[in-house]
Amino acid sequence: MKKDVLYIVVPCYNEQEVLPATTGSIVELLKKLVATDMVAEESRLLYVNDGSTDATWQLIEQHTQAHHEVCGVKLAGNVGHQNALLAGMETACEKADIIVTVDADLQDDISVIGQMIEKYQQGCDIVYGVRRERKSDTWFKRNTALAFYKLMRGLGVKSVYNHADYRLMSRRAVKQLLCYRERNLFLRGIVPLVGYKSDTVYYDRNPRLAGESKYPLGKMLGFAVDGITSFSIKPVRMVFTLGILFTLIALGILIYVLVAYFSGRTVSGWSSLILSIWFVGGCVLVGLGIVGEYIGKIYIEVKDRPRYNIEQKILQ
Ligand code: UDP
Ligand code: MG
Repeated sequence: MKKDVLYIVVPCYNEQEVLPATTGSIVELLKKLVATDMVAEESRLLYVNDGSTDATWQLIEQHTQAHHEVCGVKLAGNVGHQNALLAGMETACEKADIIVTVDADLQDDISVIGQMIEKYQQGCDIVYGVRRERKSDTWFKRNTALAFYKLMRGLGVKSVYNHADYRLMSRRAVKQLLCYRERNLFLRGIVPLVGYKSDTVYYDRNPRLAGESKYPLGKMLGFAVDGITSFSIKPVRMVFTLGILFTLIALGILIYVLVAYFSGRTVSGWSSLILSIWFVGGCVLVGLGIVGEYIGKIYIEVKDRPRYNIEQKILQ
């Protein structure tokens, strides 16, 4: 039986502190997987240098010479974690049957890659790595992340709870993912849309090996906003609902104003003023909501996502 070729894609942005350890652990894992006949000998570790300003690329070059398992791709500038991942996956899928993406700091336990491959061999196209617990993260990071998953779900975005970008994908799943031509990339939201048979593998998340997080609070918030606005036009609908609500309040106030007016309990000018504020406010919001609805439609059109993904064909 022909064995599958595995590529482990690792994006790196200023990771010189962790790189030697990362190469060591992943190469060792690859050797083990090859020795136990899980994957083919041509399996590789593929680094994607995301425009690092430190010695990351020089280290990658050295490692490619020291180990035949290591390959590298150097991006011309910093394009961000998500785009770097995509660059790696696109490069890998020319050669690989199975592609695993994992962060350079090895916070995600690579020893479960074996389990991921088993699930792949049982017929899954996508295997998500899901964190069992987040003891090693700070209280703040843990809770903001959880709130974010909940918010996403509330807004109707399909995403896997407690899953970051540690996952296995088959070549055909990656090919299908590449058909999603959008620029605002939020892989965690798109991968479930690919829709092939998937499963999860659980692991414990470790603290960062060395160096600092490349996702400070500002970047994290930006990422969250991207995630929401790339997948949901619900915020626009909320504006519309708010407009309707304001108009209804205006109706209530109309009744109140009429009663007050006829019982002579008003200051001159008050009735028309208070009524206009609510009514005009309501109309403006309804108008914005309507315009927003159209912009939402345009937004979805320009993304040019595939309309369907075929999982299997039986033609005879
Ligand atoms: N990363 C990247 N480009 C960036 C920022 C981060 O390729 O602009 C990589 C980084 O090298 C790491 C991964 O994305 O491999 C995740 O970053 P990090 O571990 O700092 O994020 P955290 O785990 O703190 O959320
Ligand atoms: Mg990390």
